[in-house]
Amino acid sequence: MQIDGKKISIIGAVRSGIGAAKLAKRSGGIPFVSDAADRSALAENLETLQAAGIEFETGGHSERVYDCDFMIVSPGVPSDALVVKEAGAENIEIMSELEFASRFCKGTIVGITGTNGKTTTTTALDFVLNKAGKKSYSAGNIGLAFSEIADKVKEDEIVSLEISSFQLDFISSFKPKYSVILNITPDHLDRYENSLQKYIDSKMKITSNQNENDYFIYWNEDKFIAENKINSTVKEFPFSFENKLTNGVFVADNAIVFSNNGEEETVCKTSDIRLKGKHNLMNSLAVTAVAKFLGLSGEEIKNGLSEFAGVEHRLEFVRELNGVIFINDSKATNVDSVRYALQSYDNPLVLILGGKDKGNDYAQIKELVRKRVKKIIAIGSSANKIAEFFEGVAPVEIKVKMEDAVAGGYQTSDKGDVVLLSPACASFDMFDNYEHRGKVFKKIVMELQ
Ligand code: ADP
Repeated sequence: MQIDGKKISIIGAVRSGIGAAKLAKRSGGIPFVSDAADRSALAENLETLQAAGIEFETGGHSERVYDCDFMIVSPGVPSDALVVKEAGAENIEIMSELEFASRFCKGTIVGITGTNGKTTTTTALDFVLNKAGKKSYSAGNIGLAFSEIADKVKEDEIVSLEISSFQLDFISSFKPKYSVILNITPDHLDRYENSLQKYIDSKMKITSNQNENDYFIYWNEDKFIAENKINSTVKEFPFSFENKLTNGVFVADNAIVFSNNGEEETVCKTSDIRLKGKHNLMNSLAVTAVAKFLGLSGEEIKNGLSEFAGVEHRLEFVRELNGVIFINDSKATNVDSVRYALQSYDNPLVLILGGKDKGNDYAQIKELVRKRVKKIIAIGSSANKIAEFFEGVAPVEIKVKMEDAVAGGYQTSDKGDVVLLSPACASFDMFDNYEHRGKVFKKIVMELQ
């Protein structure tokens, strides 16, 4: 992309916006960053901009943002924000950071989206590839913004990108060689005018520019994906837990099988995968599909999957104390991920649930809770709703502080039980973010005597 001397307005001065501004600057453009938040909330980021010699404004968007050749909108900025609407009304080209960064990338792009499992799958793929000696990066919604590395990735290198639906909202030509949709369940509907269809449409856009040389890898049994495909030219390569596929990756006789036009190869046993749970098996199927197409042998994939230990705050083992196991699943911010967490353990569970509710419907975990959970410890602003919903299903105890929730969980537990923090809610009522919640939980657990 040629941006020499071009004026580029960037809305949002956080990770993606900062990355985009730096990429714009080192590619000869003239970035101007604008954020509605106060200076105090953006302190460190503004220092980065200052050090890079990039101009910015805070506390609102001035007329200057419209004096540009194009505008880059960070994923945190809603698509119906006034500044975005006005830019649209002035016919300014608007793109997401993902779109912008991808125009500089010469390497092979793997785009991974879905409601749950993006970080785990992206990190696992990167791990497996690197272990097999491929040069691979992971970026996007996790860790590094894509813009930080896009122009550094060489032709024979691979970048695994975790992509949220927000990042897909403003793409026009973004085209991954491999697109992955892990699953679609209702989430973030507040950002999509409460329309599940809009959320689905946004996710499906990951395939919109792919052609017959590209691959679309997706969960075969996901009805939202099946009903909403928008690209009939891309090569489809589904994965399935339940069904044998001619073209796809599936589970048969407790093994992962890769089948290309009916030619089957057993990659590894499901018991070789270090991560627990059906959901992680599904993520591993997606990893297997991409890794095979990128030239890895079954043995290399098996070696990677058997060593990959997972990502912090996702069903993370914390400690065993007198036979009681503590698991940190703070990243479970919706009911679907809790459903998978509950299915991942055969042991009796003490479940720490609650936080800032996003309109949760707990009906889908009611029966699992009845079967597997011996007690719920409800925390946060949704505690009362949880206590009401689960009345008669499992005993619920409300605790205000995480210290008391952990202590209460431990006291209730017998040898062999699992105390599971899997909140199904956002964390902002008690913590800065889910990482903070997970770290506090782990610290308290480590201090238990
Ligand atoms: P994301 O990046 O999409 O939020 P993560 O890998 O961070 O996904 O996992 C978020 C939560 O969802 C964790 O609680 C994790 O255990 C759970 N999870 C991981 N993979 C899946 C999956 N394929 N389906 C459902 N839940 C999953």
